[in-house]
Amino acid sequence: MPIYEYRCTECGKVFSKLQRMGASAEGISCPACGSSKVERMVSSFASSSSGTSAGAGASTSPSCSGFT
Ligand SMILES: [Zn+2]
Repeated sequence: MPIYEYRCTECGKVFSKLQRMGASAEGISCPACGSSKVERMVSSFASSSSGTSAGAGASTSPSCSGFT
């Protein structure tokens, strides 16, 4: 199940909810103030995967030492 991120429009609290795929924001309330005025945020971790570690995994490690 995907984790949706919500932001409370009342207090600005950001929280995440584990919901079924395609579930709506109905019934979601802010855990901080209890307000139901929440808006779903676009998940940031799944959308952008910028290559920050370029060339990091290119090191050849001599693993088999006892290879005869
Ligand atoms: Zn709130």
